[in-house]
Amino acid sequence: MKAELTREALHSDLLRRVEEISGQNVLACYQCGRCSAGCPAAGVMDLLPNQVIRLVQLGLVREAMASRTIWYCAACLACEARCPKGVELPRVMEALRELVMDRGADHLAPGAVPPADLDEWPQQAFIGGFRKYT
Ligand code: SF4
Ligand code: SF4
Repeated sequence: MKAELTREALHSDLLRRVEEISGQNVLACYQCGRCSAGCPAAGVMDLLPNQVIRLVQLGLVREAMASRTIWYCAACLACEARCPKGVELPRVMEALRELVMDRGADHLAPGAVPPADLDEWPQQAFIGGFRKYT
């Protein structure tokens, strides 16, 4: 990924919004990588969880919002439990998803779920999916 680091980015409104929504001080992260080492979804992510938070730290929030990682995050909290700095990374992922959805992006239309799947899928999967994707 090629991204330009600028003074404006470091002081961007979007960075402030991520901190407001998530309630996290993203600058507390010192990039130890423990979150990514314990993330069960890391294998399918295009950016590792610590790379997502690094982008946010640098004010490159749009790049983080464009990442597939924020949608593959299962909100399992493993990263949060492993973080030596107390960063609640799942909240940062949620904030990034919220910012994407605020801009009108829908990832899953409830009516598009095939009826046959409705009997098969666990209710928790629907609740989690709709919370995350619609
Ligand atoms: S475990 Fe915490 S401090 Fe380490 S890279 Fe992840 S978010 Fe940053
Ligand atoms: S909450 Fe998301 S980023 Fe953190 S370990 Fe779980 S799947 Fe990975």
